Amino acid sequence: MTLEPPELEKPGPPEHAPYGLLPDGGAVRPIVRWGIDVMHRRNAPVTTYDDGLRTLAADMVATMYAAEGVGLAACQVGVDLAMFVFDCHDESGERTVGVVCNPEVTVPEGRDRRLAEEDEGCLSLPGGYVPLARPDVAAVSGTGLDGEPVEFSGDGLLARCLQHETDHTRGTVFADRLSTRWRKKLQKNHEKAADRYPADWPAVPKIE
Ligand code: ZN
Repeated sequence: MTLEPPELEKPGPPEHAPYGLLPDGGAVRPIVRWGIDVMHRRNAPVTTYDDGLRTLAADMVATMYAAEGVGLAACQVGVDLAMFVFDCHDESGERTVGVVCNPEVTVPEGRDRRLAEEDEGCLSLPGGYVPLARPDVAAVSGTGLDGEPVEFSGDGLLARCLQHETDHTRGTVFADRLSTRWRKKLQKNHEKAADRYPADWPAVPKIE
């Protein structure tokens, strides 16, 4: 997920990130766009917790920071696995980072359910932002990189991010939750900004 610059605070560059909690040393990969198959179907569950998974997670972290995003799912680098990484602040400004495999999201139902309408954007449709109403708090459970149980919850942008990224692992992009009118506006915003984002963004082209 991404924030509309410059109104909202974005996470700092990797050297300021709370490392130790997220795998580091990864390579920046190109972010794939909406429309390719892996982004629009339920992703395969993570069943093997090995070095390959850790490398993928480290690459996703590097890619998320390079793109100045607050969350990134594996399908966004073209990998069919139900996993996401995030570095996102809640309503109070407190920052939470994590890796979640096979996420399950819980949001309040009934009397406790309140919706917050805020601008939302996606790194796989760079430059496009429109408001979307979502439950104002959310909890996600799943497994970490060693297969251990993990759980994260929060409000504000963090609640939005946990829902947005879990959606990705199920093949749902946030346009799927928009009315036709807002979906058109989103596409227009994206097209206006498209020349700022080459096809291999945010990967730095290799100098031969
Ligand atoms: Zn997204």
